[in-house]
Amino acid sequence: MKKLLFACTVFWLVAATQAVAANAINAVRIQPSPDKTRVVFDLSSAPEYSYFTIYEVKPDRLVIDFNGTRLNTDLSQLELRGKRVTKIRTSTPKDSQSTRIVLELTGRFTANIFELGPQGSISDRLVIDLYDQANDAPGENAARETSAATPQRSSNQPARTVDELAQRKVVIAIDAGHGGDDPGSIGPSGTYEKDVVLRVSRALADIINADPDMEAHLIRTGDYYVAHKRRVRKAEQLQADMLISVHADAFTTPQPRGGSVWVLSTRRATTEQGRLLEDKERFSELLGGVEESVRNDDDNGYLARAFVDMRMNDAMARGFEAAEDVIAAMKRVTRMHKTKPQHASLAVLTSANITSMLVEIGFISNPQEEKLLLSNKHQQQIARAIYQGARDYFMRRPPDGTSIASNRMIIHTVKSGESLSVLAQRYGTTVKAIKERNQLRSNMLRIGQQLEIPR
Ligand SMILES: [Zn+2]
Repeated sequence: MKKLLFACTVFWLVAATQAVAANAINAVRIQPSPDKTRVVFDLSSAPEYSYFTIYEVKPDRLVIDFNGTRLNTDLSQLELRGKRVTKIRTSTPKDSQSTRIVLELTGRFTANIFELGPQGSISDRLVIDLYDQANDAPGENAARETSAATPQRSSNQPARTVDELAQRKVVIAIDAGHGGDDPGSIGPSGTYEKDVVLRVSRALADIINADPDMEAHLIRTGDYYVAHKRRVRKAEQLQADMLISVHADAFTTPQPRGGSVWVLSTRRATTEQGRLLEDKERFSELLGGVEESVRNDDDNGYLARAFVDMRMNDAMARGFEAAEDVIAAMKRVTRMHKTKPQHASLAVLTSANITSMLVEIGFISNPQEEKLLLSNKHQQQIARAIYQGARDYFMRRPPDGTSIASNRMIIHTVKSGESLSVLAQRYGTTVKAIKERNQLRSNMLRIGQQLEIPR
């Protein structure tokens, strides 16, 4: 009897050991972004782990013990990117069944460590976000997250001086959708939405920055994910006048094509495409690895908070008007799926201060349009159209204190190839208005001629 019990105990011990050793680290990935570096461990199943930091001796280190886990990837092949992690290596584990990973760091960072369950083709993950400052880490600044309606100056964004305020530029925040583990929609030949929209966003920023009255800032500058609430907060820190979120559409069938522009609605979307977009935004957070959305699936919390503020109505009206201008400009260079602004309740559009819109530049699920979206020429055309639409809007409704607002009238010197209609379009006015102001009897212009452009 005693002997049997002993045998059973041994058997169960072995079984248990084999069971807990079943997990594996299959890949380690590093995704640096300007304010944090993300290290992702792709695992076969949910991780069981513990961690500690070593700051007493250099280099600063973060040590993670994965229980019952073997390492299936070669850390020496890892391409270290970004400025925060200098080395990722193993160290003697606490027992033979576990793996100890050491992250050597360039300093002390606020580490936010969390698990993410499998999503789509992505397996279980352990995510480590290393933030430069404690107040950049989510969770430690819940008050700032919920008071998104109040503009905050970021610590590295100097306050504008009086001189700058007198004639400041119109500030446009450009948000390239998706990024990192969230590819967005995928075209039939494998094009990722996150890549195409980043290219169009960069082109748009370049065009805007060439305009002396405007300046652009990219919210996402590389291939990493940014939570929707953080995208809005970044735009508010920039004190942006407009937020343009750039996306590419997809549908379950290959037929639909063309662009569309979305603005905020207080209610859930009524169209199939709108509901699809709302669902995709939530799914993005899951794929992209936003801790809060996984831990706390509070469906419309952000909207409930935002709509307490009545200024939201004003922001929504401005968004709609600006979206109409962008649609008018896009129509000239591409097919439009919808010729009126569409409504959906999207977190990325919920700033009460910023005129916000989401531009779907075309259907990546349509084979022809996927090809078009990959062409540099088309990307430039779309970017220029979005710029033109935004410019038209601000010519009509210049924000206080901007150079556009103070220059009621400008002098334009005619250059080769320019016509009255080109100038009217560029300055958001009409041929008739320019002719009247300059008492022109014909449409003929000569190079070097100076024209007063009415605003
Ligand atoms: Zn998208």
